[in-house]
Amino acid sequence: MSKIAIVGGGPAGLSAAIELRRLGVERVTVYERERHAGGIPRHTNHLGFGGRDLHRMMAGPRYAHALIDRVERAGAELRLGTPVFSLDQLDADAVILATGVRERPRAARLVPGDRPAGIFTTGSVQQLSMAGRRIGTRAVIVGAEHVSFSAILTLAHTGCRSVAMVTHLPRHQSYGVVKLATASWRRVPVLTGVEIAEIVGRRRVERVVLSDGRTIACDTVVFTGDWIPDNELARHIGLRMNPAIKGPAVDHAFRTSRDGVFAIGNLVHRVAAADRCALDGRAVAAEVVRSLA
Ligand SMILES: Cc1cc2nc3c(=O)[nH]c(=O)nc-3n(C[C@H](O)[C@H](O)[C@H](O)COP(=O)(O)OP(=O)(O)OC[C@H]3O[C@@H](n4cnc5c(N)ncnc54)[C@H](O)[C@@H]3O)c2cc1C
Repeated sequence: MSKIAIVGGGPAGLSAAIELRRLGVERVTVYERERHAGGIPRHTNHLGFGGRDLHRMMAGPRYAHALIDRVERAGAELRLGTPVFSLDQLDADAVILATGVRERPRAARLVPGDRPAGIFTTGSVQQLSMAGRRIGTRAVIVGAEHVSFSAILTLAHTGCRSVAMVTHLPRHQSYGVVKLATASWRRVPVLTGVEIAEIVGRRRVERVVLSDGRTIACDTVVFTGDWIPDNELARHIGLRMNPAIKGPAVDHAFRTSRDGVFAIGNLVHRVAAADRCALDGRAVAAEVVRSLA
């Protein structure tokens, strides 16, 4: 009886589980460290998910539910609240790593200044917003990627106005239409070629000082994008890494440098759309079955 363990219950891991069961693998277990499966889409409450894999356009939470529902119907096991730190925890013939990415928080970006309340990442803003919590009133967004523009909408949803976006790069890194529908429409200036030189505030953020000397009054700073693969497990088990992505190096069949260990999704792409990660999940299932045979 073949047993496959999947680490990470986001679109990539869930899709791999569904496909493995469809291909006849007897025991498929998804290990997810959170108490809910679904990965990032669970907190991303806007349309844009499912186009290429489920052939429907859905909001993130609905997309996550659709995948979880399919996993359950397929007969794969979901082990929630179960972080995987080592392969010794897993009783499996092959392992698929699908641990995704996370945003670099302020500490990892070495931004100088005080340590007051009011400093977030997009991920934490999304979670607070879904829980109906208030975030602040005037936010400076650090970064100008797709996710940074999405943060404007999430903040607005909680009643927090974005007063500026700041990127050290010479231009934003999203589509013109995304910028138009978010920053331009809400009159949020995108300040390029500057960084935050200092965050100032005693209890709560009071202002930020930019590298060109300008000061912006705000009570909230949101660090967005600047993704880093969730690669602790991959490094812990000694996989060869891809220095450009900082995730495990894989070949065309998602095989890592260790026999029987595969890696898919944002862990190996850093920033790809959810449906692309889901399609990785489908593709790797066939490779895993072939390798077992
Ligand atoms: C704000 C925002 C908006 C987005 N909008 C869109 C959009 O409109 N359309 C779109 O297609 N994509 C969008 N994306 C991108 C999409 O969410 C990601 O591409 C997708 O979630 C990646 O899937 P994944 O399975 O690789 O990783 P993830 O979704 O990150 O899932 C990884 C899972 O692994 C778990 N995990 C990590 N380490 C361990 C461990 N050691 N043990 C157990 N579990 C572990 C995590 O808890 C997580 O649940 C958006 C992303 C963000 C942040």
